[in-house]
Amino acid sequence: MTNLDISPQHEVCPPAGAEGSAGPCLQVWPEREVPLGGVRAMNVQRTLPQRGLPTIGAWCFLDSFGPDRTAMSVLPHPHIGLQTVTWPLAGHIRHRDSVGSDVVVRPGELNIMTAGRGVSHSEFAVLPPAGEELPLQRGLQLWVALPEGERHRQPAFEQHRQLPQVGGEGYTATVMMGELAGVASPATMFTPIVGADISCGGAAVLPLNPDFEHGILVLDGGLALDGQKLLPGPLGYLGTGRQDLRLEARPGTRFLLIGGEPFQEELLMWWNFVGRTHEEVEQAREDWEAQAELPEPETAAARYGLVPGHGQDAGAEAGRIPAPPLPAVRLTPRKRAV
Ligand code: MN
Repeated sequence: MTNLDISPQHEVCPPAGAEGSAGPCLQVWPEREVPLGGVRAMNVQRTLPQRGLPTIGAWCFLDSFGPDRTAMSVLPHPHIGLQTVTWPLAGHIRHRDSVGSDVVVRPGELNIMTAGRGVSHSEFAVLPPAGEELPLQRGLQLWVALPEGERHRQPAFEQHRQLPQVGGEGYTATVMMGELAGVASPATMFTPIVGADISCGGAAVLPLNPDFEHGILVLDGGLALDGQKLLPGPLGYLGTGRQDLRLEARPGTRFLLIGGEPFQEELLMWWNFVGRTHEEVEQAREDWEAQAELPEPETAAARYGLVPGHGQDAGAEAGRIPAPPLPAVRLTPRKRAV
């Protein structure tokens, strides 16, 4: 997916400080509706980054869309410095990218695109046969920031059609990334993180890595934790230092768990780029805009490459998403509050 925010603000993410991320807590960070551009705008709730909470581990972006009958149609757009993690909950999404991928991802399957120095991709809902109604569409898209030593690597894409499951006291989980309860996902990652889709009801106890900070996003149902209720919508930030997660859930509760070692590098996020400096992000933007002028063979060799299937003869799928203008103010750091 793309950050289709009409006027994206920059998010400068200071490293997790010595005083930050220390110890267990429960903070509830509200989701926000992001005004999206385009004629077929989607309904997206963003819970990361937040002012004061830019990252959880290396997770730096969390968007939820649906459930509704809006067909995703996201034209080619670029990324740098991150992995996109796509987790459909309902509906099928066709992903095409500049490393040659053309795949459909379905609920239970995971798409991971590692942008490295630069990649471009498109995402479209798989439409039903003519005359049939589009099934409900729902999903999550997350970004993981790449650490300094990996962020200029060549782009790559992988799809995992079967992920490991694990069950424990009052819960079952699909391990998307990292390890939970001794079960590890095969997905490629570059910093210690975890991501899991968890179903539970009643009392549940999940083991956690106490070196990680964690966050949870309730998808269905609701749960009580540390004497507070969490319902679908906001992000619960759990801090570090928890050996386990003890909760009481309504029957049929489902939630996303993300976590990781507090990320120690300052990030500068703007639009679809995760970088470190104003100049670098400015260059990334210029490189995308410059590609608009190139003939196809040259586009394929340029920084962000060519996403097949979006040429002038592609009908509704012709085109690309232009970069928004940079803000008039220079991108400057912002404090992390936890
Ligand atoms: Mn994208």
